[in-house]
Amino acid sequence: ITSPTRPPVIWIHGSECTGCSMSLLRSEHPTLETLIFDLISLDFHETLSAGAGHQAEEALHKSVSENAGKFILVIEGAIPLANEGIFCRIAGHNFVDVVKDIGEQAGAVIAIGSCATWGGVAAMDPNPTGCVGVDEVLPDTQVIALPGCPPNPYNLLSTIIHYLTFKKMPALDDENRPKFAYGRLIHEHCERRPHFDNGRFARKFGDEGHRQGYCLYYLGCKGPVTHANCSTSQFGDAGSGCWPVGIGHPCFGCAEKGVGFNVPQFTTS
Ligand code: SF4
Ligand code: SF4
Repeated sequence: ITSPTRPPVIWIHGSECTGCSMSLLRSEHPTLETLIFDLISLDFHETLSAGAGHQAEEALHKSVSENAGKFILVIEGAIPLANEGIFCRIAGHNFVDVVKDIGEQAGAVIAIGSCATWGGVAAMDPNPTGCVGVDEVLPDTQVIALPGCPPNPYNLLSTIIHYLTFKKMPALDDENRPKFAYGRLIHEHCERRPHFDNGRFARKFGDEGHRQGYCLYYLGCKGPVTHANCSTSQFGDAGSGCWPVGIGHPCFGCAEKGVGFNVPQFTTS
């Protein structure tokens, strides 16, 4: 991973809030600057690129043509399909066409966050812009999914470093999520699990059980049905060590399709 030729990474944004990028900015091991100056070549990122407008677009297309078949494409945000994708336009193109064009030339594609994975917040009912996840736009490509809202940046860093070290993506589950991060339920490793097993629950925010740090199941915790490593990595806000359940808020299942967000099916037909 210390190769003088750093692998090119192109990061594009669709219908999103940029929270996934913000999460990455707060990572500490490695830090973002170590990642982009020593490990990868971040050739394009709409928020982080120094250039703008035509200059940034030029850098994007230069990297795509010079690194076709080799670059890692990271996609943040959902892809609107309604009205032929008019609801998200970048540099004169509908985002759906940008994803198809660049995605088909990438060496690997990563969907970062729940929006890019299956539509997330952008696709919530009634989903007027017809947002979907990347895999629906690139059906013939294996899209590595890193859901979460925001996602844990260390899952992205670990995936990229695995790719750089072993020249292949990590083992994936049936939904193309890396098993090292999404192989277990939050509930399996939750620090409040002994309270669950012994029937000690918070029933209302601020009640005695809540103050004692008891299990949050009756406050709506979705840890028992959500696959993610938040409980083992203490992820809630990169670097803070404050994960939601740790500070008394139930998990709301942002990383599990159909749990955290009400996402209807969208069809253009
Ligand atoms: Fe924002 Fe969440 Fe979507 Fe990321 S997954 S772009 S944090 S709404
Ligand atoms: Fe499971 Fe949630 Fe209770 Fe933790 S707080 S033990 S994840 S139900």
